[in-house]
Amino acid sequence: MFCVICGKDDRNTIRGMCIPCFLNGRQIVSLAERVDLERCTNCEEFFIQGKWLSMSTEDAVELAAEGTMKPIEEAVVRDVALASSELDPRNFSVFGEIIADIDEVSTRTECSSVVRIKNTVCKRCSRQLGNYYESTLQIRSSTKDLEDDVRDEIVRRITSTVEAMSKSNRHVFITKVEEVSGGVDLLLSSISLGKNLARDIEDSYGGEFKESSKLVGKTSDGEDMYRLTYLVRLPDYGVGDVVSFNNRIYKLTWLGKNGGKLLDLENFRETTIRKNDLKSMRVAAKPKDLREATVVNVTGDEIQILDPRNYSTVDLRIPENFEAGETITVAIVEDIIYLVPS
Ligand SMILES: [Zn+2]
Ligand SMILES: [Zn+2]
Repeated sequence: MFCVICGKDDRNTIRGMCIPCFLNGRQIVSLAERVDLERCTNCEEFFIQGKWLSMSTEDAVELAAEGTMKPIEEAVVRDVALASSELDPRNFSVFGEIIADIDEVSTRTECSSVVRIKNTVCKRCSRQLGNYYESTLQIRSSTKDLEDDVRDEIVRRITSTVEAMSKSNRHVFITKVEEVSGGVDLLLSSISLGKNLARDIEDSYGGEFKESSKLVGKTSDGEDMYRLTYLVRLPDYGVGDVVSFNNRIYKLTWLGKNGGKLLDLENFRETTIRKNDLKSMRVAAKPKDLREATVVNVTGDEIQILDPRNYSTVDLRIPENFEAGETITVAIVEDIIYLVPS
């Protein structure tokens, strides 16, 4: 084939031209002259190709420019190198060097663009800032007020769970944490989040949760809109408590979905307890009720300590491989002293 421009005989022609004539002065790849890049002023994430993403301004600017890249039909892009520079805090120029193949001939093209950052608020943040919530998780104690340290521990646990979840689902958030009389309320972005957290707390602390719903209006498509409330009543027992069950004294060492584990404080054997039996357990001492007792002597599987009430010496059995320090922790239940291993 003869090139229509230079007349050279060439096997490879495009649109009747030899490759050098075809490439001559032609923009092989171009970027949009101007690109708007949305940035949420609240979470500072950028809206890139249909998604809100957290990244550096430089990366966002370059990705936004790259998203507008248009090669001509005959070009196959092999490599893109972009560099951006700040014109002012809202405008960035992007310069690109792009390697593309035209009919197996590699060619290098330069192109440029200006990316303008537009401040906005993403939907998630506008919901969060607008106090949007779909469910409430209420944490209460079954008997008296929820103790401060239990409440703080649960709030910390929920906060870190939600934080981890939000990495893969940005619509998951806590709208508000409210200390209320008797416990704490957490307002949450979705119904399923409330339910999952209620289940998680139930599994790890025992107790049970109840669900109730309230009609709060209509959605934009005219459907009934409900808010769900998950009320979790924590049992009066917790891991670390000394409990009595079937006339024996135990330390509750673990709680899970289907029950718990008990350490017998007379023979130091571990036993499991089913969920249904947890109800018949009675708390004999909370961790704050435990006392320290001074160790006088250790011989074989026995330890001699001073009764913290009257400093008389008392002999106790010790578990295998027990390492006694200067003091040990004991529980006093119905006048009997029990060693409580940590
Ligand atoms: Zn030619
Ligand atoms: Zn945002």
